[in-house]
Amino acid sequence: MKKIVIGNWKMNPATIKEAEVLFKGITKNQKDFKNIDVAICAPYIYLPNLLKIKSRKVAVGAEDAYYEEVGAYTGNVSAKMLSVLKVKYCIVGHSERRAMGETDEMCNKKINALLKVGITPVLCVGEKTRDESHEYLNIVKKQIENSLQGVSKNALSKIIIAYEPVWAIGSNAVREVETFECQEMILYIKKVIATISSPSIAHSVRVIYGGSVHPQNSLELITNGGVDGFLVGRDSLDVKKFLNIIKNGGVK
Ligand code: PEP
Repeated sequence: MKKIVIGNWKMNPATIKEAEVLFKGITKNQKDFKNIDVAICAPYIYLPNLLKIKSRKVAVGAEDAYYEEVGAYTGNVSAKMLSVLKVKYCIVGHSERRAMGETDEMCNKKINALLKVGITPVLCVGEKTRDESHEYLNIVKKQIENSLQGVSKNALSKIIIAYEPVWAIGSNAVREVETFECQEMILYIKKVIATISSPSIAHSVRVIYGGSVHPQNSLELITNGGVDGFLVGRDSLDVKKFLNIIKNGGVK
């Protein structure tokens, strides 16, 4: 399966000029992207400008989308509006949004709205902490089952799942994930998807990893961690580091 590396810029960089420079720094090197899909999920306000920068190999995505099409929803942007812009991917259920009240039910509605307009949802799942009784497996299972409820088997294969353990994300990360922990969870997620669909559909769903991914650990995780790619936060804001992660992502 073709791997994918997605950058999640979050609320960065500070200006549109910087966003263009950063994006161009990545597209300038696209001839070296072998065997790999690459996407940047950026703040809404930067999307039109990034989409104007011609790039064959770097897709543009959003960081969230609202499930209603139009109406009195102050501050929201709909999946439908993003599809008019020709955005290709959209993150759903990032832990930073879950911390602000996003529920599995909302993720489910967002996924359905995105699929309806042809945008690929990148569903983030992950436990806040690891416990010895392995409750974290159930937490992730429930997030997947609830968020994908009612999604047709055919549509399921179009979704990307990002395993993002909250304890390993961002500058407050407690520690980095171990390869075996990543491998166990990726396999488990594929099993959960197989149970709600079929083994062949589970096989076609890309399950990627996010949480303190950097050039050094990306090679190990892609080689032995069972991942189909990465969702990258901080290091997607550094052209050199992000290019190195892309290079490692295409290795296997
Ligand atoms: C994220 O928040 O999606 C993420 C992966 O962040 P970081 O790479 O900075 O841990």
